[in-house]
Amino acid sequence: MLKRCRVERSDIAELIGDYNGVMRKGILAVFALIVLVSIALILTRSATPVVELTPPIPSLGQATPVTVRVLDPRGVRKISAFVEQNGARYQVWETTEPSVATDKTWTFPIGIKTTPQLKDGNARLIVEATSNDLLRKTSHWDGEVTVVTKPPAISVDSDQHYLYLGMADLANFNVSGSWTEAGVRVGDQTYRAWPVPGGKGGFFSLFAFAWNMPANTVPLVYASNGTGNDVTSPIVFQFPKKEQPRYTVHDLQVSDAFIQKVVGELDPNGSGDPVARFVKINNEMRRANNKTLSDLRFKTADHFLWSQPFARQAHSQAEATFADLRNYIYQGKKIDQQVHLGYDLAVTQHVGVEASNDGRIVYAAPLGIYGNCIVVDHGYGLQTIYGHLSHLDVHEGDMVKRGQVMGQSGQTGMAGGDHIHFAMQLDGVQIDPKEWWDSHWIQDHIAKRVDLPGFNK
Ligand SMILES: [Zn+2]
Repeated sequence: MLKRCRVERSDIAELIGDYNGVMRKGILAVFALIVLVSIALILTRSATPVVELTPPIPSLGQATPVTVRVLDPRGVRKISAFVEQNGARYQVWETTEPSVATDKTWTFPIGIKTTPQLKDGNARLIVEATSNDLLRKTSHWDGEVTVVTKPPAISVDSDQHYLYLGMADLANFNVSGSWTEAGVRVGDQTYRAWPVPGGKGGFFSLFAFAWNMPANTVPLVYASNGTGNDVTSPIVFQFPKKEQPRYTVHDLQVSDAFIQKVVGELDPNGSGDPVARFVKINNEMRRANNKTLSDLRFKTADHFLWSQPFARQAHSQAEATFADLRNYIYQGKKIDQQVHLGYDLAVTQHVGVEASNDGRIVYAAPLGIYGNCIVVDHGYGLQTIYGHLSHLDVHEGDMVKRGQVMGQSGQTGMAGGDHIHFAMQLDGVQIDPKEWWDSHWIQDHIAKRVDLPGFNK
């Protein structure tokens, strides 16, 4: 019995050998698996960077700031920028500091200051980004740029420009050299340059000195070649001392009935304190509506659509004038204050609303506090605005003639009685209409400087 149970030494050795073999194969298999999984992980987790240039760069000058944004879930190991021109490739910037940020921007200057080999003319800008992982995938952005080594030059008319707060004027100027954008800048507002009509050469801008512009602001003609360096030249101007308009202050009594009317019409689904809702409409909705109006500057004709002075609504009484300061009084307390940027012209109820001049309808729809609203474009960024209509008879795109009835007056929007809110804007900035009703002013300020049909030079 004992003998049967005996296990030979050689058998044990064989068994151990088999065991070791199995173990070795197992370890190898596990090791291979780990390697495979790691490779798979690297492959699936490795990323390709996305390179963007914001804003796009049309041209390079002395030292044009270039902003590169790179999106990469692994971060970025390296970014390089190159300019290729006439068969040569210049490295113009590089960073090799790894970043783990998944969305990061870098801003650096490129231009002839750092790369003097660049010449005026076409070139290609290339930005390469390398991902911050083991595979180091690289992707790039590239695009055409124009190298401009000389700034544009401006010469401005030597006219004395008489400016009034809230009013407009016209400046003539010339721009030479390479430029992408030009016009008149007053503070933070810009007014486009247009070629002088009639193919006479040179440019002009209609510009405004806004009602709230600090009086020491100097209007400038500017030209930019898109390389980050604007050239500017001041306009000779003067404020007539005595004649500055004095804006009047009005207390406007706000009744519960008026608040209910406004809130019910402009915030029908709102809830809460009606006075708070009224004030919110008067501020937030007013701002949004004014932005909509201002953006209509881009829907303008590149020529004069009119040839007579602007007309004021016939037989109308002005109940409020431009830039009146309004205090809103409710139950003896001031709840709000706004500046009224137009004329409130009243005639009779549902009077026909007349186009102030020839033009094209660029807006005819409800617009918040302005109620049913019409905007007529007259060309070169000059537009008239009509608010609170009860009925609209025109559509966007229609051409209208001076005096043409476009709808009926009413009290839609933030209006307490039937009247026309009449306003004007120039390149999106609301201005005082009163000079445009005056043919002498148009003659002296516009027609003497550019050919205006219907007027003598
Ligand atoms: Zn008004």
